[in-house]
Amino acid sequence: MIYDISPAIGASTPVWPGDLPLSRQLLSDLDAGDATTSSALRATAHLGAHADAPSHVARSAPTIDERSLDLYLGRCQLIRLQAQHGERVLPEDLPCSVNATRLLLGTNTYGNATSFRQDFAALSVELVDFVHQRGVRLVGIDTPSVDLFADQSLPVHRRLAAHDTAILEGLVLDHVPPGIYELIALPLKLVGFDASPVRAVLRTL
Ligand SMILES: [Zn+2]
Repeated sequence: MIYDISPAIGASTPVWPGDLPLSRQLLSDLDAGDATTSSALRATAHLGAHADAPSHVARSAPTIDERSLDLYLGRCQLIRLQAQHGERVLPEDLPCSVNATRLLLGTNTYGNATSFRQDFAALSVELVDFVHQRGVRLVGIDTPSVDLFADQSLPVHRRLAAHDTAILEGLVLDHVPPGIYELIALPLKLVGFDASPVRAVLRTL
């Protein structure tokens, strides 16, 4: 069984305040008598379910096309948290032990929101260090950011980059039971980019 953990992305998909929402330009159109329908798209690379590259927060750090695909593909644990809106998740908030090198955390504080909301839960530097010590190489979350909305200094992004831990954001996890799965969430090979949208799924083992 495959769980789709990607939100639909369209013109109305909320993006980070100041980011560019998705727009579609029809370059040709069957309905207009053209031989094909063909579209161009324009949007922030941090759209819907997406992978952040280390270069998002660190100069001269790897860009998304330089990341190992093995980070985004393989055995993965989904943990559901009792997270509070606008609060950081600490190591003691984990309800079970970490049993995989890829870890998705369901906070249930954003969901499939139709407008951007700022009060989502986020990770903490303490949690990032804790899971790094347990061998975690990818962390994913069901909010627009691993940092709190107001945290302009992005301490969690920076610590994840320092540990060379991959980041997935904007996942939809509400409908998936906690447990161990195979994660498939490959970023596009966007040369020099700081992020890429992904089609993220969890497959039962
Ligand atoms: Zn991010």
